[in-house]
Amino acid sequence: MRPPRSFRPAPDSPRLAILQRSDRTELWTETVGQEPPVYGERWTESDGRPYRSFEPARSKLSAAIVKEWSGPVPAPGEGWLYLGAASGTTASHVADLVGPTGRVYAVERSLRPFSRLLSLAERWPNLLPILGDAREPTTYGALVPPVQGVYADIAQADQVEIVLSNAELFLEGSAGFVLIALKTASMGRDATAVQHVRRAEEELAQLIDLEPSVRLDPFHRGHYFLGGTVRPGRLGGGPTAPQPPRERSRERRRR
Ligand code: SAM
Repeated sequence: MRPPRSFRPAPDSPRLAILQRSDRTELWTETVGQEPPVYGERWTESDGRPYRSFEPARSKLSAAIVKEWSGPVPAPGEGWLYLGAASGTTASHVADLVGPTGRVYAVERSLRPFSRLLSLAERWPNLLPILGDAREPTTYGALVPPVQGVYADIAQADQVEIVLSNAELFLEGSAGFVLIALKTASMGRDATAVQHVRRAEEELAQLIDLEPSVRLDPFHRGHYFLGGTVRPGRLGGGPTAPQPPRERSRERRRR
C-alpha cells in the first residue's frame, strides 16, 4: 500500500495520526503489534514507523474521535484498565496509543473472545488479557496496578456503576480518566436513548468533570461516548496517595 504523505500526530496523543481526506477523516495508530491485521484493518509505514488504520465503523473510540470527541484519549506511557475487551479490536489500538512503555489491562468475561484476545496478546506485548467479570473488580485486583485511565464497553444496563467501582479501586490516587461507550439499547425500555444518556451523564457528573458526550451514529447506531477526568478527592479510596491527573490539551484534534 502507498504510504500516506502527511500523518499529523494528535496534540494530546502523539501515537494517533489523523489524516484529513477530502471526503473523510482517517485515523491511524502507530502500532506496537505484529501483523497479521487484527480485524482487516490496513497496515502501512510513515517515516519508517508502522501504522494501522483505526476504523470508526469497528471501534467506538475511533468513531468518537472522528466525531470530534474533545475529551481525553489514551497517551504514551499510561496504564489503562479496559473493561469488555472482547477479542481486542479496540483494546489493541489503545495498546498502540499507550505505546511500549504503557500497559493495557484488558478484562473480558466470555471465553470465546477471550481466547482470541489471548492469542492477540502474543503479538501485542503491552496488552495483558484478564479473564474476569467487571462487576467483581476485587477478583482481578491483584493483576492490575494503579492506572491512569478506565475504558469501558460492556453493553450492560448498570455499566456506569460498574465503571465507577473499577475507577474507585484502580485509578491512581483516585484520579485520572474515564471513557465509556454506552449502548442505550442495553439499558432498558423505560426511557428513550437520550434519556438514558442524560441519566448516565447526571450520575457521572457527580464524580467526573465530563466532556460533551458524542453520539456515534452512523458508525454505531444507538451508541454514545461519554467520559472525562476524575479529580483527586472526588472518588473514595484508591490505591495510592492523591495526585492530579496530567492536564490534557483541549486543542481540537481537527483544525
Ligand atoms: N470493546 C470491544 C471493542 O471495541 O473491540 C467490543 C466489546 S463488546 C461490545 C462487549 C464485550 O463486553 C463483550 O465481549 C462481553 O462479553 C463483554 N462483557 C459484558 N459484560 C461484561 C462484564 N461484566 N465483565 C467483563 N466483560 C463483559
